Amino acid sequence: MRELLVVKSGGPAAFVEWQAAFAAVAPGLELALWGDPALDPARITHALVWDPEPGALARLPALEVIFGAGAGVDAIIADAELPRHIPLVRMGVEGAAQRMGEYVAWAALGLLRDQRRLAIAQAASRWDYFEPENTAPERVVGIMGLGVMGTRAATMLQGLGFGVVGWSRTEKFVPGVRSFVGDAELAAFLAESDILVVLLPATEATRGLIAAPLLACAKPGAGLILAGRGTQAVIPDILAALDAGQLSGAVIDVFDPEPLAADSPVWAHPKVTVTPHCASLPSRRERAAYVAEVMARHRRGEALPNLYDPLRGY
Ligand code: NDP
Repeated sequence: MRELLVVKSGGPAAFVEWQAAFAAVAPGLELALWGDPALDPARITHALVWDPEPGALARLPALEVIFGAGAGVDAIIADAELPRHIPLVRMGVEGAAQRMGEYVAWAALGLLRDQRRLAIAQAASRWDYFEPENTAPERVVGIMGLGVMGTRAATMLQGLGFGVVGWSRTEKFVPGVRSFVGDAELAAFLAESDILVVLLPATEATRGLIAAPLLACAKPGAGLILAGRGTQAVIPDILAALDAGQLSGAVIDVFDPEPLAADSPVWAHPKVTVTPHCASLPSRRERAAYVAEVMARHRRGEALPNLYDPLRGY
């Protein structure tokens, strides 16, 4: 059967860009826009999706592989009717980790130099001279989620001179990074971390984790960088911790829901920098190349990389 890839990642304008990206890396691959009324669902063999409508993937009888348009597939597995027998491949583009590392390095340096205070002063044309309290080698960054993203961020932070510790479900061996494991070692991990970086997947275990009980165990005056998923954070608790001085500053990329509401108090908070879920989005060309490569592997009957694991939940 001829392969046909349906795309649901952005609207019709984005689809035109997807077409250009796939034309460059996989000329000849037939592409269709999700929801095209002229499309026969029985012809769809592959789907590249970010947030398909619940039940829609289950109605594609010839579907062989589902590709998540991002590293996190939480918006796909939220579908109760998701056909679980069909492999779900998470986006595993090499450049994604580099971009995330750059974002985390930028955010950590921004917290170190109180970039938010500088931005507020500049907006008011005010010469607000102050000296940073610490340099990078005097600070330890604690990374929650030492996976593909977290490991690259760790290496780049080390390059800037930061000390780095990590927290994950299972033990990790990253040079120079002390590994803390599971709930039992969370408090010890927090006690080490001057800046917390959240790079966890959205699962039942991580839902609502960044909330008052955890923040109370953080080092007084810790910084916070949230770039995993919005469901992991309880924003009112974070704002309260900032107001109380328990947190000194936050850089937040992910929210629930997105986009962040225009009337949210987060926007104007003097200690929060907001970014619009842009920490690490590889180009369409990079992602198209990855999808085309995995489709070729599937055609050859080879094992697929980066599969969603229902037992782990991510
Ligand atoms: P990986 O699967 O490579 O790594 C996930 C890490 O999280 C692993 O170290 C894993 O530990 C750890 N982890 C998972 N569950 C728990 C838990 N309950 N307790 C402690 N540690 C846990 O994912 P990536 O690094 O590729 O991506 C991580 C997340 O970053 C994505 O799921 C997505 O939500 C987010 N992301 C955000 C982007 C943005 O632009 N803001 C862009 C890309 C990703 P173990 O290996 O031991 O299971």
